[in-house]
Amino acid sequence: MAEHRQHSHADSGLCPSCVAEKGFIEAHWHLTLMIGCPVHGCMPATFCPKCGKRLRLFRRGLLECGCGADLIGCDLPPIPKEDAALLDSIRRKVLGVPANAENPLSFPQDQLLAMSLRSMLVVVRALGKHRLIADDARAWRMSARSSRRPPVSCAIGQETSSGF
Ligand SMILES: [Zn+2]
Ligand SMILES: [Zn+2]
Repeated sequence: MAEHRQHSHADSGLCPSCVAEKGFIEAHWHLTLMIGCPVHGCMPATFCPKCGKRLRLFRRGLLECGCGADLIGCDLPPIPKEDAALLDSIRRKVLGVPANAENPLSFPQDQLLAMSLRSMLVVVRALGKHRLIADDARAWRMSARSSRRPPVSCAIGQETSSGF
């Protein structure tokens, strides 16, 4: 089931600039974890800016919503450079494009590209999960600091030590 979802079009967006340049939606957009366009460094368009409906694969034109809105004018927020580098490796893997010779972030793209797509996606998922946890911890530290309360784990530690 998970395998089916991964290759379904339902959750993936598209980069209007890429579609405008290429004339078609590149294969890597079929992966649900493509959370941005590595070529243009922007978030994908997933909803129509005019009618707010989720963009469907089978629409009149690739860059036209069913409501008639033109998607090329979409103003899409940028994605972090690190994310773009990672997504770039996935895109190259899916499309069979060689590694980026410039590689400004010294990203381990050669190692990633040497992996199978399946292993690559596992790594990327693991990285995403790790980052979510890190973000949670940071948000928690900030809220803990602002409320000036000792962290819950410390409070429990004090309780148990006073019991001895
Ligand atoms: Zn693009
Ligand atoms: Zn629309």
